[in-house]
Amino acid sequence: MAESPRFRAPAATQDILPPESARWEALLARFAQQMADAGYGLLQSPMFEELGVFQRVGEGTDVVRKEMYEFTDRGGRQMALRPEGTASVVRAFNQHRPATPWKVWYAAPSFRYERKQAGRYRQHHQLGIEALGSDDPDLDVEVIVLLADFYRSLGLQRVELSINSMGAPGDRAAYVDDLRSWLHHREDQLDPADREKVDDNPMRVLDSKREQTRAAVADAPRIVDALSADAADRFRRVREGLDAADVAYRVDPGLVRGLDYYTHTTFEFAGLALESAQNALGGGGRYDGLAEALGGPATPGIGFGSGIERTLLACDAEGVFGAPDRAPDVFIVDVAGGAWARDLTVQLRRAGISADRAFDGRSMRSQMKLADRSGSRWAIIVGEDEVAAGQVSVRDMHAPDGDQQRIDRNALIDHLESRA
Ligand code: AMP
Repeated sequence: MAESPRFRAPAATQDILPPESARWEALLARFAQQMADAGYGLLQSPMFEELGVFQRVGEGTDVVRKEMYEFTDRGGRQMALRPEGTASVVRAFNQHRPATPWKVWYAAPSFRYERKQAGRYRQHHQLGIEALGSDDPDLDVEVIVLLADFYRSLGLQRVELSINSMGAPGDRAAYVDDLRSWLHHREDQLDPADREKVDDNPMRVLDSKREQTRAAVADAPRIVDALSADAADRFRRVREGLDAADVAYRVDPGLVRGLDYYTHTTFEFAGLALESAQNALGGGGRYDGLAEALGGPATPGIGFGSGIERTLLACDAEGVFGAPDRAPDVFIVDVAGGAWARDLTVQLRRAGISADRAFDGRSMRSQMKLADRSGSRWAIIVGEDEVAAGQVSVRDMHAPDGDQQRIDRNALIDHLESRA
């Protein structure tokens, strides 16, 4: 067995190697295409920001309070690695003040110092979109349906959408006061780990995963019952849009997303083929107060973040979206010194024919094995005879009898194109 290496990837991170990484490429390409088709452009922003950008967003959340990778840079600035996608996008919006509605997508690593457990990484990757500058509930529908359709296009079927409304900021504030006093009266029934949230962030108690707390809050007041007429209308319009798009959902009054700036619609997709502790595929919501909280103009916004690792785990569990076929069109087996392999790969690739080859002057047998393993349709065999005749042998690796044909080297590209 190989000696264990001196350095390994950090705990709870992973290397994604080929061929698995080809699924990542395919997933990214699919997402980029679907979002571009809906008018979203790529936003590429730094992987770290001033600490305040993230602190402002989630003072009440574990992600920001306990899990953030904070550091002081060499200039003495307090910085942090991005723990989630939205804050950076809103910071960029405030800085550049683009015309609205501003619709962007991103694919970016997120860093959280999580406890080590299955399906939870300290660096995970999110695909997301954010749309700023409109509070039209039809935009909420657009955003949710785009994510539902993305999962659908991967072949996922066991995906459940939950939605909720947090109401307008005023609805939320009044509700939070009611909820806090309701929880205070029942504090001893809550799991001790959730008690500290009652004062700071009582809504987080409602989405606790702990059994004791879940039982205690089953009859807690629900924000959907405390919405103003306008907020209730907006929520109705969102549900109507989802119905019209044939996207099934359930209203989950316990779905409160962590950020303090969420207003109106919140949503989350669960992968039912996964263990429930790690089955959140993606989620998001409206954050109409966030741009202002980060020092910009008051601007409504909505978006989602969806975990790549989780989505691929769900695909594994449902047996869909396998690794795409990355076999080259041809594999060149050169046992005549290698110069033809060197030059033919260049010519073929420039002609748009994918080509791979062996190196190091390996034996015929060993090169044929590589050709076979590559999965390529054609093996181009170059021996001394072929070189002397100015020809190559083209073997059809898919034909059971190894059908093989000699053709002029100069006719190779035409030949392959005619057989494609
Ligand atoms: P959140 O910002 O917590 O709502 O996360 C958005 C999505 O990112 C989740 O639905 C998961 O798919 C994924 N995610 C969050 N944290 C992790 C993690 N530690 N490891 C893997 N995926 C994660």
